[in-house]
Amino acid sequence: MRISKLLTLSLTALSLSTLTACEAGSPGETEAETGAEAQVQAETPDDAFDLDHEFMTEQAVAFAGGEAREALVDFGAGPQTVPVLVRNGWVYFQGDMLLGRVDEVRFADALPGKGDHADHPGLEKAALSHRNPWPNGEVVFQIDTLAFPLGSPMRATILQAIASVNATSMLKVREKGALDFAYLRITRPADGVGCNSFVGYAPPPVTMEMHLAQDCSVGSIIHEFGHAGGLFHEQARADRDTQIRVLTNNIIDAMEPQFQTYIVNGLAGLDFGSFDFGSIMLYPSFNGFANDVARPTMNKRSCAANDFSAACTWSVQRDAYSGKDAAALSRQVTGDPLAKFKIRNVAHNQCLRPAGASIAEGATISVVVCDSNSKAQRWYTWRRPGMARDVIVNENSRHCLARNAAGTLIQTRCTSTDAARQFQFVGLGLFRGEQLQQSGGRCVFATSTDATVSNSCADTTSREFTRDYL
Ligand SMILES: [Zn+2]
Repeated sequence: MRISKLLTLSLTALSLSTLTACEAGSPGETEAETGAEAQVQAETPDDAFDLDHEFMTEQAVAFAGGEAREALVDFGAGPQTVPVLVRNGWVYFQGDMLLGRVDEVRFADALPGKGDHADHPGLEKAALSHRNPWPNGEVVFQIDTLAFPLGSPMRATILQAIASVNATSMLKVREKGALDFAYLRITRPADGVGCNSFVGYAPPPVTMEMHLAQDCSVGSIIHEFGHAGGLFHEQARADRDTQIRVLTNNIIDAMEPQFQTYIVNGLAGLDFGSFDFGSIMLYPSFNGFANDVARPTMNKRSCAANDFSAACTWSVQRDAYSGKDAAALSRQVTGDPLAKFKIRNVAHNQCLRPAGASIAEGATISVVVCDSNSKAQRWYTWRRPGMARDVIVNENSRHCLARNAAGTLIQTRCTSTDAARQFQFVGLGLFRGEQLQQSGGRCVFATSTDATVSNSCADTTSREFTRDYL
């Protein structure tokens, strides 16, 4: 009974959040309502209710209830039991991650008539596929036209989110063609609640769907495509306890699984780069999972456990993938290829590396003494089907080589559409190296310290490189 009471409390918080954000600026808004909203914001640390509305819509299913069960899933580390919520025939993990339909998931707590398919080996395979990346990094979708008719505002919102995903990550989100048999169906949740998505890729007979309620924002939909691309939540990282503190005492008992790491859940995962407070996949400090919503569920590890000041807590952004989100998706898309190489310049006998071995987007490329042990000096190529040239990915940062407006060679997010990120290694002949060419007759040119993309591909050793495979 305790749980029910607490759930009621958090539902109140959700309602408040929904009203605050949805009604702000809407026609017919009265001054009295505006005043009430201002009061809420003033009394709430970090404007939590208002700022975290998008987060709350992602997590709405957790509040709306359902049946708590133990699913038997395998994300690549063997079958594991994880706490899930079964609701309207779907299985939800950590709030907004869909593991499949109830008859496609095995349950550790199976009872007769409760949808256990242990005797159905074909379906067991479904759970084994969740961590699979989408073939060629192409997330194929189909928008349910009945749910989101042509010309409807929500359809435009979805397409806006897809454009952002395509512009900022290596995922290529494209509409289903006649020959595509495996695709993500984007539709409404049966009860109109929440924004959630299937995690990763699994071909039929598994059902891959993304469910978007009317109030899912562009940012929340980008977050859901992060799940579709294979990302967990940022606070589920194995190393998160070095950066944040989960304040379990203030978390509703039934919501505690939301704050578990993938390691605790026994899942195969990968901590990519370092913890990222700018990640679109992060939960906010203040949220409706709290017993007391005026207090945070998480604060920064560098602060005292009882320090809930603005400097020790955080809001979340739901604008676009951070640089590290995009880099993690690049890793997910391209995998971890065996064929990695140093790029050694012939004139200077030195190698390309992001300046200071930086993982930051936009870091310039330095020319430094070659070092086989330096992960930051390792690169690999990847080509999306249909692309004329390769992208060249840094193993350390998972960002791609690119030419900026000034012609400087930098690393940046890997996207497929921009010619400035696409290169071609072109051999100069027997016992010679290669040029690193771009469209328009441009070639990478190295000095003893840095590199540019010159407007010439003249045969000079400053434009000649060897790929030293590792
Ligand atoms: Zn999520």
